[in-house]
Amino acid sequence: MAASPVSGRSTKDTLKLLYKTHMVTVEVGPEKEHFVVHQSLICDKSRYFAKALSGSFQEGITRFVRLPDVSPILFRIFVAWLYHGKLAYVATDAGIDEDFASLEFTEEDIEKTEIDQTDVYPPDDTGSNSAVSNDSETDCGTLRNTKSTFTVENPRVQTSSSTKPANNTVIPTDFKNDEENPESWALHVFTKLYVFAERFDIRQLRADALDRLATVMDKGQVLLGFGAIQYLYLNTTANSKLRTYIVHRTAYRCKFAEPASEYEKLPVEFLVAVLLTNGRRLTDKQCDECHQRALKLRGLLDFEHDDVCKTQDLAPYKLDMCFYHEHPDEEERKACAARRTTTE
Ligand SMILES: [Zn+2]
Ligand SMILES: [Zn+2]
Repeated sequence: MAASPVSGRSTKDTLKLLYKTHMVTVEVGPEKEHFVVHQSLICDKSRYFAKALSGSFQEGITRFVRLPDVSPILFRIFVAWLYHGKLAYVATDAGIDEDFASLEFTEEDIEKTEIDQTDVYPPDDTGSNSAVSNDSETDCGTLRNTKSTFTVENPRVQTSSSTKPANNTVIPTDFKNDEENPESWALHVFTKLYVFAERFDIRQLRADALDRLATVMDKGQVLLGFGAIQYLYLNTTANSKLRTYIVHRTAYRCKFAEPASEYEKLPVEFLVAVLLTNGRRLTDKQCDECHQRALKLRGLLDFEHDDVCKTQDLAPYKLDMCFYHEHPDEEERKACAARRTTTE
């Protein structure tokens, strides 16, 4: 497995952060699992922890952070990523399949109508330090994956059972989680991990989670299920790159074979974004000349949409995954692109 394409941190850079720093204890989940990590490392990657441990808060003095509503499984992935610079997992005694099953979407995950805004940590927010939300992803009356309508790009990977339609993530039938190989992990793991990375404002983890999710979707030829999309819209902010990616993916790949009433279950913001993306798109049946004419007719030539390709009918993810990476500068973006061409 190649190094994480986005964070691409050198061992030396990581080691530097381990010297001359304090250790902090993070208490995670209702079972109060303790994780002890290097303060400078966690603060370097997470703006949430950087702020929480900055000294002006209680946590900065005690070096103790309580996160009772966070899944310890996600935190394990985060700690492995912190120290290894890539996604990996070391399972609990229960084993990886059971661990990851605890991350599956519950009715509660999906049907919650209100979002605690203080819990979501938008990238440019400088205020709130809330570490607690009402979301209880660890409190799972685990629902198994179910109906695979809408989500399937390739009918061969449909799952068999169909019990409760609230949670229809699609997982290929030969699916098996492997600790060392994130490409084998289920889609819901990355969806939850992305939301985790947004809440704790870990930009590079967001990019890594998104990239892996994209790879797994490519491999299995699947789209996110309704449950995942509902969860995503309940737990991320409007400028979430994963929202953007899923909108693009759906607009460009979904067959929309279901009756219209099926899609009414999806968040309105999502549906509108898919509609707009498809409306701005040009069909692949057009030749270049027609394409240019259509762009002109729709007034898109002079109108700047950064997700409309003006030369071909191509989704941004087909052109450059960096579109979703939130790189702060051109330098990092170039390094990311270079790393991806060498590791892929
Ligand atoms: Zn033509
Ligand atoms: Zn990038």
